[in-house]
Formats: sequence, structure tokens, C-alpha cells
Amino acid sequence: MREFSRRNILAATTVVGVTTAISAAASAAQLGNPDRPPEGAANVANPKALAEPGPQNPNLARQLPSAGSPPPTDVNGMPMFWSSFNIMHKRIQDGGWARQVTQSDFQISEDVSGVNMRLGPGGVRELHWHQQAEWAVMTDGKCRLTVLDGDGRAAVRDVNAGDLWYFPAGLPHSLQGLGPSGAEFALVFDNGRASEYNTLLLTDWVAHTPPKVLAENFNLPVSAFQPIPVDDRWIYQGSEPPPLAQVQREVASSLGPSDIEFTFSPSAMAPTRQTRSGSVKIVDTRNFPVSATIAAAIVTIKPGGLRELHWHPNADEWQYWVQGTGRMTVFNTGPAAMTLDFHAGDVGYVKKSLGHYIENTGSTDVVMVETFKSDRFAEVSLAQWLACSPRQMVAETLKMDPRLIEQISKSRPDIVPA
Ligand code: MN
Ligand code: MN
Repeated sequence: MREFSRRNILAATTVVGVTTAISAAASAAQLGNPDRPPEGAANVANPKALAEPGPQNPNLARQLPSAGSPPPTDVNGMPMFWSSFNIMHKRIQDGGWARQVTQSDFQISEDVSGVNMRLGPGGVRELHWHQQAEWAVMTDGKCRLTVLDGDGRAAVRDVNAGDLWYFPAGLPHSLQGLGPSGAEFALVFDNGRASEYNTLLLTDWVAHTPPKVLAENFNLPVSAFQPIPVDDRWIYQGSEPPPLAQVQREVASSLGPSDIEFTFSPSAMAPTRQTRSGSVKIVDTRNFPVSATIAAAIVTIKPGGLRELHWHPNADEWQYWVQGTGRMTVFNTGPAAMTLDFHAGDVGYVKKSLGHYIENTGSTDVVMVETFKSDRFAEVSLAQWLACSPRQMVAETLKMDPRLIEQISKSRPDIVPA
């Protein structure tokens, strides 16, 4: 009983009060610095501990400053989600080149693989097909596409920088760079294992079919096949092709041309969302019906802009950084949070439903293409979710003032400040 004397109670109250004050101070100190033991260069007392006296590759380190010195809110780790076409080995042949980022080189990239290809004027990517669907975005120049649909109707189209195409799995096609400058583009296959060096090639098949069978199949004399190459062509320097309309007439079967729209021009559509900090154009089966396995968002983030905290509930995200400089942080259970930097030519990847956000860290617009192995683009915004959750619950969870919770927008701007 003596312990509960008035004096002791007063003393205890004082101790509790002090404890509360220390707790609030500690909490304030931990905002932006949440881990125990603390992580990040800001928590290193002796700067000598931060030195890197060992061997350095400064050019590489400069590309990834957030890897070399992560923010103190980063914690633990997760599989590498940065890669780049710029570090990949090029296959160059007369007419053009290609390089790729597949799951062999980028383990996280399970749903899709990416190819960066260049075809000079007249350069041809040989007639071929593959088991995966092919989605593409043109980044430079002009390209002619040919494809045969599943009903035996041909399509020939010319596409320009910014345009997209999609060839369903198995449909045979070709690509040719057009004058005066040829074409460059990125391809996305809906399978991380898919390789541009492992496609079904016209030349490979005819060279590996007995001449007698070829003659019978095409109703031509065996001698007609005497000149066929025994090596594949893959990419070769072709002649400048005839005008589009002439070729379209030439390839039409009795069924007429294909009525499938294999191409799409995002430049002709209004942004799906636009704020003062950027814009998003969503291209999926709702406006590009043929693209049954790849949905896309073309995102522009102005300097100082933030692609808001969000995730995608239906698919992994594969990113192609087309322009600018930015930084992406990905959040996972654990907790784990990891920040990496991106430049034009880089590839990013976020697994389905993992939280992420992107900051433009440069002085020019970031332009990036996000693709998803899905027929529909889908996104959950953290801010919208909180604004659309019971205010008292959010306030109690985060110990925030409910009047401030009320100010969070129920709309989803995508790029902020809106
Ligand atoms: Mn292809
Ligand atoms: Mn995203």
C-alpha cells in the first residue's frame, strides 16, 4: 500500500509525463528515419565510415546514386528492378540491330521481355512469327509492318514515332525501316523468357524442308528453290519498298484486307488524365481491342512532378524509360523499400500489387511507357484509398488529425502536384 502514497503517485505521473514527451520526440525524430538500428548515410556519425576506398566504377555509380546512398526510409532489400537496354549486348547485322532485356538477364522480369531494335532505311526484320504476342512502341522514324490475320487476310501499315502495334501470338509478320531515317522501336513480348533471337523464321523452315516437299507444297518446280539461303536472314538490308497502297493491293487475298486494327496512334488521343504536373494516356483493349495481352500507359511527368503512390492489382509493370531522369521507390512486405534511379533507355519492373512511386529528378520531362500483361490497365491510388476509407479509422491508424485526412482528394490525379 505504501507504494500508492500520494507522493509516489505524483512521482509516477511525472515519470509518465516525461516518458510521453520522450516518446513524442523520438517519434518526431523517426519521421523519415523509421528503422532500428537506423539506416542511411544521415545516421552515420563518422563520415569516414561512408568512404569507399575500394575499387570504383564512377561512371556506373553516377547512374545509380540512390543505390550508392539510399534514403533513410529505404530498408532491407528486394530483387533488382533496374535494367537497361544500354548495358545489353547488341546483335548487329547489315540493315540494323537489336538488343534485349529478357528474364535470363533480369530475373524479376517474369511476365514480359523487352527488345530494342533499329532498322535503317530499307532494313528488314525477316518474315517470322513466335509463340508470344508482340506489342511495340515506335521511338524514332518510320516503319512498315506486314501481318497476316488468323482468317488469312493481310494487313500492311506504316507507323511513325509514338505509334504502337500489336501482333497476337503466332500471327506471321515483318518489319521494315523506311526512308529517310529508318526506324527505332521497343518490342514487348508477353513472356519474360521470350527472345528476339529465338523466333520462327521463314528462312529456317524452308531451308530445313526437303526440296521435294517444298515443290509439292507451293506447286512450283524444285528448281525454283535452288536460290534459297541456307542461313537465316533475321535482319538484312532490303530495297526501299514500293508505295503503301501498291503493296496493300498486291497482298490482298480474295477475302480482302484484314479488318483488325493492328496499330494505334496515342498522339491522336486526349490524355486519360492530365494535371499541371503531367499526363497519362491509357491504351488497352478499351481503345485498342487487338491488344488482348498487353495494356499500356504512356506517362509524362514534368520536372518536380511525382507519379503518385500507387500499385496495380492485376499485373506486373514493365517500364521503358524514353526520356528524362527519375527515381522510383518500390515498397514490399518485410517491410522492404528500395529506391533506384532511371534514365532514358532504362527498363524498370514492379511486381503485381507492390506499392511504388516515381519522382522526376531532372530538369526535363520524364516520358515513360508502362506495360502490363493484361487486357486492362488497373491502378489503386493510396491517396484515393485513404480518402475513400472511414475518416475515423484512417485518423486512428495514422494518429493524424481527421480534419487533415478530410483534405485528401477522392479523385486520382496520377501525377501530382495536381
Ligand atoms: Mn516479331
Ligand atoms: Mn505503376
